[in-house]
Amino acid sequence: MDQDLIELGRGRPVFNFSAGPSGATDPTRAALGRPLLYHYDPAFRQLYRSVVSQLGQAFACEEAPVILHGEAVLGLEAAAASFIAPDDVVLNLVSGVFGKGFGYWARRYAREVIELEVPYNEINQPEDVRRALQDHPEIKVVAAVHCETPSGTVNPISEIAPMVREAGGLLLVDAVASFGGMLVEPSRWPADLVVVGPQKCLGGPPGLSLLYVSDRAWEHMESNPAAPRASILSILDWRGAEENTERFPFTPSVAEINALDACLAQFLAEGSEAVRARHQRVARAVRAGGRALGLSLWPHVEATCSETVTAFAVPAGVDEGRVRDRARREMGAMLSGGQGALIGKVIRIGHMGPSAQPHTPVLALTALGQALRAEGFSADVGGAVEAAVAALGT
Ligand SMILES: *Cc1c(COP(=O)(O)O)cnc(C)c1O
Repeated sequence: MDQDLIELGRGRPVFNFSAGPSGATDPTRAALGRPLLYHYDPAFRQLYRSVVSQLGQAFACEEAPVILHGEAVLGLEAAAASFIAPDDVVLNLVSGVFGKGFGYWARRYAREVIELEVPYNEINQPEDVRRALQDHPEIKVVAAVHCETPSGTVNPISEIAPMVREAGGLLLVDAVASFGGMLVEPSRWPADLVVVGPQKCLGGPPGLSLLYVSDRAWEHMESNPAAPRASILSILDWRGAEENTERFPFTPSVAEINALDACLAQFLAEGSEAVRARHQRVARAVRAGGRALGLSLWPHVEATCSETVTAFAVPAGVDEGRVRDRARREMGAMLSGGQGALIGKVIRIGHMGPSAQPHTPVLALTALGQALRAEGFSADVGGAVEAAVAALGT
């Protein structure tokens, strides 16, 4: 193991400006050191109930949420398996890598998948969704991604959701990289199944899937004869697990629940409005600073940029892998690159959860600028810092 890269916490700070896992605050790390209780210990039962209740508050919904015990990809695949019945027609909205990926799962379970795909620097337009719903009244499930993390974009779920409800469809949303940083309103949108993870804006470890499930979604899953049972992919098995006095379907991830307890307590204490304002302010400064550095935003339209992660287009002739490697080795700043079809095309600064702090634009852009310069791109580091500080305001 390269000593240089493992100095974290031993005198050489490493700044996590990635697209997640986004690092953890001290209280969250301390919670990871709590005793690993037996899952049938009454104290763990009580903690589990309390965590589900806090999660419900964070979702601002009446319905009890569900926790699945695996990284958010488990929640998404379980959603495809449980929520898409064999005779369902699915409308899959694709504006990036995660939307595209969901389509592969959806095809496994659906009668038919209709895909509405836009270039990955654009977003899914509500008018296109309306037209698709009109042209295909047989659509039962609509799948969308809120924050397309690899693209740094946000889809207009609050406009799409009422259309889906009006057309009698069910809406499934991947809000993994937006929840806890941007406005995610499952029951107000309204959505039916929303999948979230703690490792992005909540600043937790990547080991759980957090699900909002509407009454209509439960009904649909309960009536789906192919919905998994006695399976790691089962959502139904975990329904009401916090109230069940008998057994959990399997051993819950005790350490992850300890950490989630701390993450949610911090989120609720700060308050969702303050959390959002913090993310908006930092995002604005990263965009302004990045442009002053000499970069272009990857998203076509600035208003579609995410408030949790910013994607810049990699300048012509620059190798983003080398830039990120330099930023990490020489400045201790961990940035994210592209994913899937966007590898080599974008370079990203994550500003989610613990990294949505006012120092992030200044440090991340300085590291990125220094690395870009060393790779032959004339980056205006001073201008970037000035622009970022100005955009932060007071
Ligand atoms: C992070 C993330 C997930 C979880 O996927 P990983 O590839 O395991 O990180 C799912 N959806 C979105 C939009 C994400 O940002």
